[in-house]
Amino acid sequence: MSKPGPKPFYHEGIRFECQGSGKCCTSRGSYGYVYLTLEDRKRFAEYFGLSTAQFTQQYCNSKDGHVFLKDPPEASGDCIFLEDGNRCGTYEARPGQCRTWPFWPENMKAKIWRREIASFCPGVGKGKLHTREEIEEILKRSSSEE
Ligand code: SF4
Repeated sequence: MSKPGPKPFYHEGIRFECQGSGKCCTSRGSYGYVYLTLEDRKRFAEYFGLSTAQFTQQYCNSKDGHVFLKDPPEASGDCIFLEDGNRCGTYEARPGQCRTWPFWPENMKAKIWRREIASFCPGVGKGKLHTREEIEEILKRSSSEE
């Protein structure tokens, strides 16, 4: 149930449908890392036919206890699994961070959403209406995975 208090800017819901631009898979400053939970690494490991430890050693780096995908060798800043500039090469196994874009806690502030996310991501305003309740459920899941 929604808490009482001021309504968030998304109280009437937000339309979003991925347009396959690949923009959220390329480096853009603070959004540059693809963080992975243990669940994400297990899913990837199974996808690649590796143990979780092997996958982590081969594809991940970590800092301050947070595990994230390594940079590609050409240091372009794009995700290591991005293909042809706009296609996820591991779509079925993509991590929670990629599944929940753009409804990330750090994006859901009115100013940030309007100034950065809505203009950056071509999927915002298109397709399915995500209700406030659905968005808050996604945010709750993201916070509990941190
Ligand atoms: S794992 Fe796939 S969806 Fe996620 S950032 Fe990389 S290319 Fe994009």
